Amino acid sequence: MLKIDPELLNNASLSPHRRALEQGYRWLRFEDGLEQQFQAFYVQGHVARVRMAAYVCIVLFAMFVILDLATLPAYVSIRTASIRIGLIIPSFIVVLLASYRAAWRPYLGTAVFSAALVTGLSTVAVIGSALDAGYQIPYEGILLVALFIYLIAFLSWRRALLANMVTLGAFVIMEFWLQTDSRARLYQIVFMCAANGVGAYGAYFLEHSMRTTFLVNTLLHELAALDGLTGLSNRRTLNIHLERVWRQALRDRQAVAIAMIDIDHFKRYNDRYGHARGDAALKAVADVIAAQARRPLDLTARYGGEEFAVIWHNPVPGELQAMGEALTAAVAALRIEHPDSDSGSLSVSVGVTIGLPCAGDDAAALLRMADQALYQAKHQGRNQVVVSEPVAAFV
Ligand code: GH3
Ligand code: MG
Ligand code: MG
Repeated sequence: MLKIDPELLNNASLSPHRRALEQGYRWLRFEDGLEQQFQAFYVQGHVARVRMAAYVCIVLFAMFVILDLATLPAYVSIRTASIRIGLIIPSFIVVLLASYRAAWRPYLGTAVFSAALVTGLSTVAVIGSALDAGYQIPYEGILLVALFIYLIAFLSWRRALLANMVTLGAFVIMEFWLQTDSRARLYQIVFMCAANGVGAYGAYFLEHSMRTTFLVNTLLHELAALDGLTGLSNRRTLNIHLERVWRQALRDRQAVAIAMIDIDHFKRYNDRYGHARGDAALKAVADVIAAQARRPLDLTARYGGEEFAVIWHNPVPGELQAMGEALTAAVAALRIEHPDSDSGSLSVSVGVTIGLPCAGDDAAALLRMADQALYQAKHQGRNQVVVSEPVAAFV
């Protein structure tokens, strides 16, 4: 199994991803919500490969048809070619359709599973129908089919195993029913079981690594995007998000508002209570700030030290003062003792500004305006909200 750097785990939040990495997933299953995310990641990551595999299969089976017609007696080839043309090739055409049509994409996994079952059972039928006609055709093709289902079809391990076990069962029944040469029967069944063992073993570790990649990917993304102490977005994410929201607002002719929030006299708080309690207070403040921006394009971030920022997409301009006051009130409601501040408990100052983006404007100007409003709130005595005049473009 892949070993994960313990540092990576220590720095990650207590998310389901981290829990999964710590607890392991040897049964190849995550808890419900995470499992769905993984399935989406898996399907998304493999559409192109599954499509390629379907094309390869169609070409290969078309070649087998030609080979059948060229080498087998007509009374045998008519049966084998009909099974390949009538069942196997159409099942891969369905896979191709599901891979190309967005509306069918959720059924891609089911289409591949069906194609795997159809191919396995049809190949048993090809061998069986030839035997029934008194003709031994090489059976090795079915070993390739088993390995294909395990390793190339990108089915989940469980589905690949199921498709192959059904095929193996049908193969054994067919062999006992139609194979008269008992020595050949024994060899063929043993080789089929061995191919399944090798394939299942390889496929298990393939899926296990895929799951690890998925979890590590998410943890790395989280580490790069979030602030480690508070769990809010970090400054880098704030900047990226602001640019994105700004462009969206420009297209939709909507406004963007920013609040800059700074804890009052936080140095004194640290000096009195120590850094650890300072950290706990920061976390508590971050949690109440996070609750003040809940719409999909809103964002709350730790801007640095004891400063936070909120982005509100398309707010009502007349409500900005109230939105800022909701922030100061929420922090006051925490009732964190702070004898060295004027109010006696931990408070914040807030600067808010709003802008309607115009082509050529830049979002950083909005941040600077909010920062100036914050400076003014500090200057006027702290524990208050200043809403700056809208930037020129806003009307
Ligand atoms: P003002 O009201 O003017 O904002 O005063 P202030 O003391 O809050 O501002 P100043 O910029 O002088 O000090 C900020 C303090 O925030 C300094 C530092 O001790 C504290 N601080 C910054 N980051 C952290 C952190 O991650 N954890 C803790 N515990 N304290 C921090
Ligand atoms: Mg401060
Ligand atoms: Mg500060």
